[in-house]
Amino acid sequence: MNKFRSDWVRDRQGNVTQMHYARQGIITPEMRHVAEQESLEPELICKEVAEGRMVIPANICHVELEPLAIGIASRCKINANIGNSQISSGLDEELEKLALSIKYGADTVMDLSTGKDIAKIRNNIIRNSPVPIGTVPIYEVVERVPDVRDLKPEFILQVIEEQAKQGVDYMTVHCGVVRKVLPLIESRITKIVSRGGALMAQWMLHHDQENPLYTHFDQLLEICKRYDVTLSLGDGLRPGCLHDASDAAQFTELDVLGELTERAWKHDVQVMIEGPGHVPMDQIEMNMAKEREVCHDAPFYVLGPLVTDIAAGYDHIASAIGGAIAAWKGASMLCYVTPKEHLGLPNAEDVRNGIIAYKIAAHAADIARHRPGAQDQDDAMSRARYSFDWNRQFELALDPDRAREYHDETLPGEAHKKAEFCSMCGPRFCAYKLSQEVSEKSKELADKMIPTACPETTPANNGHTAEDKHAVGE
Ligand code: SF4
Repeated sequence: MNKFRSDWVRDRQGNVTQMHYARQGIITPEMRHVAEQESLEPELICKEVAEGRMVIPANICHVELEPLAIGIASRCKINANIGNSQISSGLDEELEKLALSIKYGADTVMDLSTGKDIAKIRNNIIRNSPVPIGTVPIYEVVERVPDVRDLKPEFILQVIEEQAKQGVDYMTVHCGVVRKVLPLIESRITKIVSRGGALMAQWMLHHDQENPLYTHFDQLLEICKRYDVTLSLGDGLRPGCLHDASDAAQFTELDVLGELTERAWKHDVQVMIEGPGHVPMDQIEMNMAKEREVCHDAPFYVLGPLVTDIAAGYDHIASAIGGAIAAWKGASMLCYVTPKEHLGLPNAEDVRNGIIAYKIAAHAADIARHRPGAQDQDDAMSRARYSFDWNRQFELALDPDRAREYHDETLPGEAHKKAEFCSMCGPRFCAYKLSQEVSEKSKELADKMIPTACPETTPANNGHTAEDKHAVGE
């Protein structure tokens, strides 16, 4: 794999976060790179990073990374989750999912492995990934201790540092699940649905102590500063169903995340905030506004949200609807959901379907927010459609393989790549073809209707004849 950033990071030491450089007015190669990608000025990127509205997750140990920006000023990003479970998948399958995620356009990938060989799988993923890699370190922590109740805060920090050394670019840490919020889940139908949140709650109740990620937050920040790990402050109490959305537990945790954001920024550590979950459509805009207010405009990274709870088997659609609204109203990154959500570990085809659903959601939001060049590809597609340039249409589609496959199901072969129709309406009823003919005929008609110039009607007399002038008394 190309070591894209080796020269950029070679001499960095001390506090190496992008935010630390940005706050000194230093425009890093990473900032220049993302400025070019986003068609934005490097100075703007530097300002956004300095003020915390944008993050560039770029661990100095991930030299294969081609950095990108997550923030309100940049294109909306999408994340794909991969990773094995205790009962399914291994290294080859996970590398296949990584390759597929990158092929279909995931901007970042989270390795959520909870099964065997977590460190080995993660190292292989990082070494083969040009996109930022995120993790939830508590999964590995729990995999390595026989009983979660036995784990020590120092061991959590040890695992976090090991992951940072490997090059993990951002980490989800459920620091906001503090003791005072736990009683607030009682009125919920689904209580705690975040795996990390539930594990932290279990530990806290067993030890009758505060969340160790909260009490050891400063040590966590020291690790982030050394490697430039971006913190993704997890929503351990995100609503797991519509009934539980926007409740006291969710918003009390959000207040804690707002407080932790300020603490992280004091150390120039980059921060994203993770968001809900399951939210009725009419509450999404309020949720986006609340996060920006409470967490001081830190980029919002939302899971979906799902806008109905009854779409099992189609949750990628139910959540992409919520994701599109969330991104339009202020979310900076969407975490994809696959058709297998709530049902099982996604396979490669599920990953593909989830990514494309979210590419659509994020892209629709970029257009709605008028981001530079957002609609260019759509306009090019419309021109290709109208001119029956089938190969160009496939190239421009978010999933070129699927577009070609569907077209070729009924009209295979090269001859049909120039056909002025498809199997939907057929040659006699193709509206594009008919409208091209209408357009040509109406052009001819318009040419015929242009009146020949009258010697007395010239621009100099403003279209009036001599008689007109007399008639209006000029
Ligand atoms: S046949 Fe119908 S669907 Fe196909 S290109 Fe023409 S108008 Fe479009």
